[in-house]
Amino acid sequence: MPKSLGDRFRIAARAFASHEGPATRLAAAPGVWRTGAMHRDSVLFITLDSCRFDSFEAVVPAALSAIGPLVRAQAPSYFTFGSHCAMFAGFTPGDGARHEPFVNPKFGKIFRVLGGPAKSHGRDAFILEGESIVDGFNRQGYLTAGSGAAGWFDDRRESVRHLVRHFQHYLYAGNCWSLAKQLSFLEQTIAGATGPVFAFLNVGETHVPYWHEGAAWERDRNPCVPFATTNDAAESQRRQRACLAWVDAQLAPMIGAFSNASVLACGDHGDAWGEDGFWEHGVAHPKVLEVPLVYRLAPHVRARVESIS
Ligand SMILES: [Zn+2]
Repeated sequence: MPKSLGDRFRIAARAFASHEGPATRLAAAPGVWRTGAMHRDSVLFITLDSCRFDSFEAVVPAALSAIGPLVRAQAPSYFTFGSHCAMFAGFTPGDGARHEPFVNPKFGKIFRVLGGPAKSHGRDAFILEGESIVDGFNRQGYLTAGSGAAGWFDDRRESVRHLVRHFQHYLYAGNCWSLAKQLSFLEQTIAGATGPVFAFLNVGETHVPYWHEGAAWERDRNPCVPFATTNDAAESQRRQRACLAWVDAQLAPMIGAFSNASVLACGDHGDAWGEDGFWEHGVAHPKVLEVPLVYRLAPHVRARVESIS
Protein backbone atom coordinates (compact mmCIF):
# COMPACT_ATOMS: atom_id res chain seq x y z
CA MET A 1 0.00 0.00 0.00
CA PRO A 2 1.38 3.44 -0.94
CA LYS A 3 2.54 5.48 2.05
CA SER A 4 3.90 8.65 0.53
CA LEU A 5 2.95 11.19 -2.06
CA GLY A 6 5.90 9.99 -4.12
CA ASP A 7 4.55 6.44 -4.08
CA ARG A 8 1.19 7.67 -5.24
CA PHE A 9 2.73 9.48 -8.19
CA ARG A 10 4.80 6.43 -9.09
CA ILE A 11 1.65 4.35 -9.16
CA ALA A 12 0.04 6.93 -11.40
CA ALA A 13 3.08 7.00 -13.65
CA ARG A 14 3.03 3.21 -14.00
CA ALA A 15 -0.64 3.34 -14.85
CA PHE A 16 0.05 5.97 -17.48
CA ALA A 17 2.77 3.90 -19.06
CA SER A 18 0.76 0.69 -19.08
CA HIS A 19 -1.94 1.53 -21.58
CA GLU A 20 -2.59 3.49 -24.70
CA GLY A 21 -4.21 6.62 -23.43
CA PRO A 22 -5.70 9.45 -25.43
CA ALA A 23 -3.38 11.67 -27.40
CA THR A 24 -3.98 14.58 -25.05
CA ARG A 25 -3.54 14.28 -21.31
CA LEU A 26 -4.39 16.90 -18.75
CA ALA A 27 -2.16 17.59 -15.79
CA ALA A 28 -3.05 15.93 -12.52
CA ALA A 29 -4.79 18.08 -9.95
CA PRO A 30 -3.58 17.01 -6.50
CA GLY A 31 -5.98 17.64 -3.68
CA VAL A 32 -8.12 16.17 -0.95
CA TRP A 33 -11.82 15.42 -0.85
CA ARG A 34 -13.86 18.37 0.38
CA THR A 35 -17.61 18.09 0.69
CA GLY A 36 -19.37 19.66 -2.27
CA ALA A 37 -16.10 20.78 -3.84
CA MET A 38 -16.38 19.06 -7.21
CA HIS A 39 -17.65 21.09 -10.18
CA ARG A 40 -21.42 20.71 -10.59
CA ASP A 41 -21.02 19.27 -14.11
CA SER A 42 -18.87 16.46 -12.72
CA VAL A 43 -19.96 12.83 -12.71
CA LEU A 44 -18.99 10.06 -10.31
CA PHE A 45 -19.69 6.52 -11.50
CA ILE A 46 -19.15 3.64 -9.06
CA THR A 47 -19.63 -0.04 -9.86
CA LEU A 48 -19.82 -2.42 -6.90
CA ASP A 49 -18.48 -5.53 -8.55
CA SER A 50 -20.73 -8.59 -8.09
CA CYS A 51 -22.91 -6.82 -5.53
CA ARG A 52 -26.31 -8.48 -5.25
CA PHE A 53 -29.43 -6.42 -4.94
CA ASP A 54 -30.42 -8.19 -1.72
CA SER A 55 -27.04 -7.38 -0.17
CA PHE A 56 -27.56 -3.69 -0.77
CA GLU A 57 -31.18 -3.88 0.35
CA ALA A 58 -30.20 -5.60 3.61
CA VAL A 59 -27.20 -3.41 4.49
CA VAL A 60 -28.65 -0.03 3.47
CA PRO A 61 -25.15 1.45 3.20
CA ALA A 62 -25.39 5.04 4.43
CA ALA A 63 -23.28 6.99 1.93
CA LEU A 64 -24.39 5.00 -1.11
CA SER A 65 -28.06 5.02 -0.09
CA ALA A 66 -27.94 8.80 0.31
CA ILE A 67 -27.25 9.11 -3.42
CA GLY A 68 -30.86 8.30 -4.28
CA PRO A 69 -33.71 5.78 -4.02
CA LEU A 70 -32.71 2.15 -4.45
CA VAL A 71 -33.78 0.59 -7.74
CA ARG A 72 -34.00 -3.17 -8.30
CA ALA A 73 -32.31 -3.16 -11.70
CA GLN A 74 -31.28 -5.61 -14.36
CA ALA A 75 -27.63 -5.54 -15.36
CA PRO A 76 -26.80 -5.31 -19.08
CA SER A 77 -24.64 -8.45 -18.85
CA TYR A 78 -23.70 -11.28 -16.49
CA PHE A 79 -19.99 -10.59 -16.32
CA THR A 80 -17.71 -7.63 -15.71
CA PHE A 81 -16.42 -6.96 -19.19
CA GLY A 82 -19.74 -7.27 -21.00
CA SER A 83 -21.54 -5.17 -18.44
CA HIS A 84 -18.98 -2.36 -18.41
CA CYS A 85 -18.75 -2.30 -22.22
CA ALA A 86 -22.51 -1.83 -22.27
CA MET A 87 -22.48 0.79 -19.51
CA PHE A 88 -19.66 2.71 -21.20
CA ALA A 89 -21.90 2.77 -24.28
CA GLY A 90 -24.75 4.22 -22.21
CA PHE A 91 -26.66 1.07 -21.26
CA THR A 92 -26.65 1.35 -17.49
CA PRO A 93 -28.62 -1.14 -15.36
CA GLY A 94 -32.33 -0.43 -15.19
CA ASP A 95 -35.91 -1.53 -14.71
CA GLY A 96 -37.45 -1.98 -18.13
CA ALA A 97 -40.99 -2.04 -16.74
CA ARG A 98 -40.85 1.56 -15.53
CA HIS A 99 -41.61 4.20 -18.15
CA GLU A 100 -39.31 6.85 -16.80
CA PRO A 101 -35.87 8.05 -17.83
CA PHE A 102 -32.65 6.90 -16.12
CA VAL A 103 -34.39 4.18 -14.08
CA ASN A 104 -35.10 2.69 -17.49
CA PRO A 105 -32.24 3.41 -19.91
CA LYS A 106 -34.40 2.30 -22.82
CA PHE A 107 -36.69 5.24 -22.01
CA GLY A 108 -33.97 7.80 -21.28
CA LYS A 109 -30.27 7.41 -20.70
CA ILE A 110 -28.01 8.87 -18.06
CA PHE A 111 -25.27 8.65 -20.69
CA ARG A 112 -26.13 8.77 -24.38
CA VAL A 113 -23.34 8.12 -26.86
CA LEU A 114 -24.16 9.72 -30.20
CA GLY A 115 -23.26 8.00 -33.43
CA GLY A 116 -24.43 4.56 -32.34
CA PRO A 117 -27.60 2.78 -33.43
CA ALA A 118 -29.52 3.38 -30.17
CA LYS A 119 -32.45 5.76 -30.56
CA SER A 120 -33.18 8.66 -28.26
CA HIS A 121 -36.56 9.26 -26.65
CA GLY A 122 -35.54 12.80 -25.84
CA ARG A 123 -34.80 12.51 -22.13
CA ASP A 124 -31.09 11.87 -21.88
CA ALA A 125 -28.89 13.50 -19.26
CA PHE A 126 -25.33 13.53 -20.61
CA ILE A 127 -25.14 13.52 -24.40
CA LEU A 128 -21.69 12.49 -25.55
CA GLU A 129 -19.89 11.88 -28.79
CA GLY A 130 -17.09 9.36 -29.14
CA GLU A 131 -16.16 5.70 -28.82
CA SER A 132 -17.42 5.49 -25.24
CA ILE A 133 -18.68 7.72 -22.47
CA VAL A 134 -15.07 8.21 -21.34
CA ASP A 135 -14.03 9.35 -24.80
CA GLY A 136 -17.12 11.55 -24.89
CA PHE A 137 -16.29 13.26 -21.60
CA ASN A 138 -12.70 13.77 -22.81
CA ARG A 139 -14.01 15.53 -25.90
CA GLN A 140 -16.12 17.82 -23.72
CA GLY A 141 -13.05 18.93 -21.80
CA TYR A 142 -13.58 16.84 -18.70
CA LEU A 143 -10.75 15.51 -16.58
CA THR A 144 -11.30 11.75 -16.73
CA ALA A 145 -9.90 9.29 -14.21
CA GLY A 146 -10.75 5.68 -13.51
CA SER A 147 -9.67 2.73 -11.42
CA GLY A 148 -10.75 -0.89 -11.73
CA ALA A 149 -10.25 -3.81 -9.37
CA ALA A 150 -11.70 -6.84 -11.15
CA GLY A 151 -9.46 -8.81 -13.49
CA TRP A 152 -11.32 -7.48 -16.50
CA PHE A 153 -9.81 -4.08 -15.69
CA ASP A 154 -6.24 -5.34 -15.90
CA ASP A 155 -4.96 -3.15 -18.71
CA ARG A 156 -1.89 -5.35 -19.12
CA ARG A 157 -4.26 -7.74 -20.90
CA GLU A 158 -4.43 -6.76 -24.55
CA SER A 159 -7.91 -8.17 -25.10
CA VAL A 160 -9.54 -5.91 -22.51
CA ARG A 161 -7.46 -2.77 -22.86
CA HIS A 162 -9.94 -0.84 -24.99
CA LEU A 163 -12.36 -0.75 -22.05
CA VAL A 164 -10.16 1.71 -20.16
CA ARG A 165 -7.87 3.20 -22.77
CA HIS A 166 -9.68 6.52 -22.95
CA PHE A 167 -9.13 7.48 -19.31
CA GLN A 168 -6.61 10.29 -18.98
CA HIS A 169 -5.64 8.79 -15.63
CA TYR A 170 -6.08 5.09 -14.97
CA LEU A 171 -5.06 2.63 -12.28
CA TYR A 172 -5.64 -1.11 -12.21
CA ALA A 173 -5.73 -2.03 -8.53
CA GLY A 174 -4.03 -5.39 -9.08
CA ASN A 175 -6.56 -7.34 -7.00
CA CYS A 176 -10.03 -7.06 -5.46
CA TRP A 177 -8.99 -5.82 -2.02
CA SER A 178 -7.11 -2.56 -2.61
CA LEU A 179 -9.80 0.09 -2.30
CA ALA A 180 -7.52 2.36 -0.25
CA LYS A 181 -5.00 2.42 -3.08
CA GLN A 182 -7.72 3.17 -5.62
CA LEU A 183 -9.16 5.99 -3.56
CA SER A 184 -5.70 7.48 -3.02
CA PHE A 185 -5.14 7.43 -6.76
CA LEU A 186 -8.44 9.14 -7.50
CA GLU A 187 -7.92 11.66 -4.75
CA GLN A 188 -4.49 12.48 -6.11
CA THR A 189 -5.67 12.85 -9.69
CA ILE A 190 -9.02 14.61 -9.40
CA ALA A 191 -9.85 15.88 -5.92
CA GLY A 192 -8.29 19.28 -6.52
CA ALA A 193 -9.79 19.80 -9.96
CA THR A 194 -11.68 23.05 -10.52
CA GLY A 195 -13.29 22.05 -13.83
CA PRO A 196 -15.67 19.16 -14.55
CA VAL A 197 -14.49 15.64 -13.82
CA PHE A 198 -15.64 12.19 -14.85
CA ALA A 199 -14.52 9.75 -12.16
CA PHE A 200 -15.03 6.00 -12.39
CA LEU A 201 -14.39 3.41 -9.70
CA ASN A 202 -14.88 -0.35 -9.94
CA VAL A 203 -14.93 -1.69 -6.36
CA GLY A 204 -13.50 -5.18 -5.86
CA GLU A 205 -14.24 -5.96 -2.22
CA THR A 206 -17.80 -7.04 -3.07
CA HIS A 207 -16.38 -9.54 -5.60
CA VAL A 208 -15.35 -13.04 -4.50
CA PRO A 209 -13.68 -13.92 -2.18
CA TYR A 210 -15.59 -11.11 -0.39
CA TRP A 211 -12.70 -9.76 1.63
CA HIS A 212 -11.56 -6.31 2.64
CA GLU A 213 -8.42 -4.94 4.24
CA GLY A 214 -8.47 -5.82 7.93
CA ALA A 215 -11.35 -8.30 7.61
CA ALA A 216 -11.55 -10.89 10.38
CA TRP A 217 -11.91 -13.85 8.02
CA GLU A 218 -9.41 -15.62 5.77
CA ARG A 219 -9.07 -14.24 2.28
CA ASP A 220 -8.00 -17.52 0.70
CA ARG A 221 -11.09 -19.46 1.77
CA ASN A 222 -13.52 -18.45 -0.98
CA PRO A 223 -17.07 -19.60 -0.12
CA CYS A 224 -18.37 -19.11 -3.69
CA VAL A 225 -16.47 -21.03 -6.36
CA PRO A 226 -18.11 -22.18 -9.60
CA PHE A 227 -18.68 -25.96 -9.68
CA ALA A 228 -17.17 -26.49 -6.21
CA THR A 229 -18.80 -28.74 -3.63
CA THR A 230 -17.52 -26.85 -0.60
CA ASN A 231 -19.42 -23.58 -1.15
CA ASP A 232 -21.33 -21.81 1.58
CA ALA A 233 -24.26 -19.55 0.68
CA ALA A 234 -24.74 -18.18 4.19
CA GLU A 235 -21.05 -17.31 4.48
CA SER A 236 -21.08 -15.71 1.02
CA GLN A 237 -24.02 -13.57 2.04
CA ARG A 238 -22.47 -12.61 5.39
CA ARG A 239 -19.15 -11.68 3.82
CA GLN A 240 -20.53 -9.67 0.90
CA ARG A 241 -22.76 -7.69 3.23
CA ALA A 242 -19.87 -6.98 5.59
CA CYS A 243 -17.69 -5.92 2.66
CA LEU A 244 -20.39 -3.60 1.34
CA ALA A 245 -20.75 -1.90 4.73
CA TRP A 246 -16.96 -1.48 4.95
CA VAL A 247 -16.72 -0.16 1.37
CA ASP A 248 -19.48 2.35 2.04
CA ALA A 249 -17.54 3.93 4.90
CA GLN A 250 -14.43 4.21 2.71
CA LEU A 251 -16.38 5.80 -0.15
CA ALA A 252 -18.19 8.40 1.94
CA PRO A 253 -15.64 11.26 1.63
CA MET A 254 -15.43 10.90 -2.15
CA ILE A 255 -19.21 10.70 -2.56
CA GLY A 256 -19.50 13.79 -0.35
CA ALA A 257 -17.13 15.71 -2.61
CA PHE A 258 -19.58 15.13 -5.48
CA SER A 259 -22.64 16.27 -3.50
CA ASN A 260 -23.30 19.12 -5.96
CA ALA A 261 -22.64 16.95 -8.99
CA SER A 262 -24.16 13.80 -10.52
CA VAL A 263 -23.50 10.39 -8.99
CA LEU A 264 -24.36 6.86 -10.11
CA ALA A 265 -23.64 3.61 -8.26
CA CYS A 266 -24.69 0.11 -9.26
CA GLY A 267 -23.72 -3.53 -9.38
CA ASP A 268 -22.21 -4.63 -12.69
CA HIS A 269 -23.81 -8.04 -12.08
CA GLY A 270 -24.66 -10.08 -9.03
CA ASP A 271 -23.55 -13.52 -7.88
CA ALA A 272 -25.53 -16.73 -7.58
CA TRP A 273 -25.21 -18.42 -4.20
CA GLY A 274 -26.43 -21.89 -5.03
CA GLU A 275 -29.78 -20.90 -6.50
CA ASP A 276 -30.69 -23.59 -9.07
CA GLY A 277 -27.19 -25.01 -8.59
CA PHE A 278 -25.42 -21.89 -9.87
CA TRP A 279 -22.48 -20.23 -8.12
CA GLU A 280 -20.76 -16.88 -8.75
CA HIS A 281 -21.32 -15.06 -12.06
CA GLY A 282 -20.62 -15.41 -15.76
CA VAL A 283 -23.93 -17.19 -16.32
CA ALA A 284 -27.33 -15.74 -17.16
CA HIS A 285 -29.13 -16.56 -13.92
CA PRO A 286 -31.73 -14.10 -12.53
CA LYS A 287 -29.66 -13.59 -9.37
CA VAL A 288 -26.65 -12.74 -11.51
CA LEU A 289 -28.57 -10.18 -13.54
CA GLU A 290 -30.33 -8.51 -10.58
CA VAL A 291 -28.33 -5.54 -9.22
CA PRO A 292 -28.78 -2.45 -7.07
CA LEU A 293 -28.89 0.96 -8.74
CA VAL A 294 -28.86 4.38 -7.09
CA TYR A 295 -28.33 7.66 -8.87
CA ARG A 296 -28.72 11.38 -8.46
CA LEU A 297 -28.49 14.00 -11.19
CA ALA A 298 -27.24 17.46 -10.28
CA PRO A 299 -30.20 19.86 -10.04
CA HIS A 300 -29.22 21.86 -13.14
CA VAL A 301 -28.81 18.66 -15.15
CA ARG A 302 -32.22 17.42 -14.02
CA ALA A 303 -33.76 20.83 -14.85
CA ARG A 304 -32.25 20.71 -18.33
CA VAL A 305 -33.65 17.24 -18.91
CA GLU A 306 -37.09 18.17 -17.60
CA SER A 307 -37.20 21.20 -19.93
CA ILE A 308 -37.13 18.81 -22.90
CA SER A 309 -40.69 18.31 -24.08
ZN1 LIG B 1 -17.97 -7.77 -12.28
